[in-house]
Amino acid sequence: MKCRVCREPAIIDIRRHNANFCTEHFLKLCRDQTVKAIDEFAMIKPGERVLVAVSGGKDSLAIWDILLDLGYEADGLYLGLGIGDYSDASRECARAYARQRSATLIEVDLPADYGYDIPTGARAAKRVPCSACGLSKRHLFDQAALDGGYDVVVTGHNLDDEAAVLFGNVLRWQTDYLGRQLPVLPARQGFPRKVKPLVRLGEREMAAYCVVKGIDYIVEECPMAVGNKHLGYKEALNAIEATSPGSKHDFYFGFLSRASAHFRPQAEGEQAELLACISCGAPTTSETCAFCRLVERAGGHLPAGDRAVRDAVPVVLSPSRSAGAVT
Ligand code: SF4
Ligand SMILES: [Zn+2]
Ligand SMILES: [Zn+2]
Repeated sequence: MKCRVCREPAIIDIRRHNANFCTEHFLKLCRDQTVKAIDEFAMIKPGERVLVAVSGGKDSLAIWDILLDLGYEADGLYLGLGIGDYSDASRECARAYARQRSATLIEVDLPADYGYDIPTGARAAKRVPCSACGLSKRHLFDQAALDGGYDVVVTGHNLDDEAAVLFGNVLRWQTDYLGRQLPVLPARQGFPRKVKPLVRLGEREMAAYCVVKGIDYIVEECPMAVGNKHLGYKEALNAIEATSPGSKHDFYFGFLSRASAHFRPQAEGEQAELLACISCGAPTTSETCAFCRLVERAGGHLPAGDRAVRDAVPVVLSPSRSAGAVT
């Protein structure tokens, strides 16, 4: 197996490109595909400040690494969800990477800062865990980006993620979601721009990228994901991809170029006028935003001892301070 570019021994085959790559040219491919996505969808302008939503998984650490290598001013934001060992291990991966690259990692911790964790908070608020989690993430990423003066929030969604979400939206013809499923969500009324520069790269490539670059990432799936539909859609698409390489790419990019525009007018029409939340000031369609309502119902559901321990976690790991410094 030889590298398509230099004919040296290859370390990975990428069937949808019908090619094999050596270490050097595989890393170059990852950077080139990221640059192509950024340029094609006007995701990040030169000189903009970037905030990467870091989970400790392969995708978010890989995109953070690629952006730093490309010379972007990119800080990380880690959100502690309070999901037992999974959160402890993923936080450690995020911190270790920040130390390794002398990069700034901002930390927000749901239990310490808002008095709930995802499993107990979701129960108290009568939401499924992933719904409480998604709502918390969206709100806190937006808030951190605006408070920190960042121009854009980057997430690590890759081609497999986007193809699986698209598959689910098409199965149920969720036309409002289809109208909003874009690799770039422009800034509007108190929301920062959000972008997904990994849409041209797959899950397997991101895992390989981290291994090759020596980036330690959390391999386990979040325990809350067990049995969720998204994983089932990924499996279904993997089965199709195995017999027909390139299907995920054609499905997703075909949607963007040929179908997405048909659903956009409906999604845009449904964008209601936004007010400022009376509690936190975030944009909302009602008096109090969904996040503040969640905190009101879920907050305070942790034992006091647990909160006290978690209150001691660092908020920002900054390269200008010694690793582990508390600010
Ligand atoms: S699986 Fe659900 S609970 Fe776990 S991180 Fe993802 S959205 Fe959050
Ligand atoms: Zn090569
Ligand atoms: Zn609010």
